[in-house]
Amino acid sequence: MDIQFTPEDLAFQKDVRAFLADNLTDEIRGGYVGGHVDPGVMIRWQKILNKQGWAAPNWPESYGGTGWSITQKYIFENECAEAGAPAVVPFGLKMVAPVIYSFGSDEQKQRFLPDILDSNVWWCQGYSEPGAGSDLASLQTKAVLDGDHYVVNGQKIWTTYAQHADWIFCLVRTSSEGKHQQGISFLLIDMKTPGVEVRKIDSIDNQHTLNEVFFDNVKVPVENLIGEENKGWTYAKVLLTHERTAIAGVASSKKALHKLKEFAANERVGSGSLADDPLFNAKLAKIEIDLMALEYTELRAIASVSAGAAPGPESSILKIRGTEIQQQVSELAVEAGGHYSHVMNDGEAVGNDVAWTSSAKYLYGRAATIYGGSNEVQKNIIAKMVLGL
Ligand SMILES: Cc1cc2nc3c(=O)[nH]c(=O)nc-3n(C[C@H](O)[C@H](O)[C@H](O)COP(=O)(O)OP(=O)(O)OC[C@H]3O[C@@H](n4cnc5c(N)ncnc54)[C@H](O)[C@@H]3O)c2cc1C
Repeated sequence: MDIQFTPEDLAFQKDVRAFLADNLTDEIRGGYVGGHVDPGVMIRWQKILNKQGWAAPNWPESYGGTGWSITQKYIFENECAEAGAPAVVPFGLKMVAPVIYSFGSDEQKQRFLPDILDSNVWWCQGYSEPGAGSDLASLQTKAVLDGDHYVVNGQKIWTTYAQHADWIFCLVRTSSEGKHQQGISFLLIDMKTPGVEVRKIDSIDNQHTLNEVFFDNVKVPVENLIGEENKGWTYAKVLLTHERTAIAGVASSKKALHKLKEFAANERVGSGSLADDPLFNAKLAKIEIDLMALEYTELRAIASVSAGAAPGPESSILKIRGTEIQQQVSELAVEAGGHYSHVMNDGEAVGNDVAWTSSAKYLYGRAATIYGGSNEVQKNIIAKMVLGL
């Protein structure tokens, strides 16, 4: 995309590049375990960003946001991806924080937001249950008010990184009256509370990122309820739009595509290189065009959020196209790597530079069209909320 930067934007870009050159060490850049960013590295990187005041570009300035323009956010995200910066921990910064600063009490804001900014506390997301994924509103984990606390019983599933989490934000059923959506509340639960148990699920890439979380008579103080009882569905939906916007990952797909091009240029095929293969180039060009179109769509979404709106149902469009493109890039990377893609299965042994070709990353990437709400369900949302069908 050809964006015209003003002299101020160019100066900002220079500052970002200088910051990255000074702070993004090879150790942080290469901090991968089995194709996933090492959680310890994510925390360290977020602390470095926070020290600079750059951890939360999308938060309101009053809570620690940067106050950057859309162009500055665009520059920052692209420079970070291009330099190979790791992701920050999304569950706090990009998921529960917008709910806390939008719907939480002043006490909750003061208690939780500073630790989220500095990544002192790891959060996880307790939405899905064995019988409630796409049909999330049918969730059954129950919270019963008993004096000054709730007693929580039930089970969550697919809880990413629950094994590292200090806190979980949970959707719980506080009423069975009326429509399913009406009896849901949004509770913050300390993972160290007696009765919380985490059980591991191995994923297809043979890594441990997923878990089940069980609640057996877990006592949660009422002050950990966000907003009003039985209004949690409203807050949950706001969180999901932020989550889906974040999942699109345009800047990181651009970086992955860039690496793929470099790899193809150096990969010998017969007397030339893979980059001379017209079939390979056609596939590459199609992905690049789709990615460029998505980037414009993302910029439009960022523009409306910067103007004060919460990301709306359009976030479903970003989620669908972003994850489809991520999968296409990883498919083409495996194709380009040929048999090396299998040799490179062990991401940590080869580091960030080539881990992108690993079959482990390809396999885990299949989940992208499922998590954050499956792409089929996003299409239903678009049909109803965007197209009005
Ligand atoms: C890697 C990974 C990480 C995850 N991390 C978390 C997490 O941290 N916290 C959390 O709470 N959840 C997490 N999830 C859960 C995720 O949100 C759910 O898997 C997702 O919402 C789908 O729900 P489900 O798995 O129950 O599938 P189901 O809802 O059973 O769906 C099965 C299939 O049916 C399709 N389908 C269902 N309903 C419809 C419909 N109405 N119209 C058309 N098609 C439909 C779906 O698209 C899907 O293909 C994670 C999932 C994965 C894979």
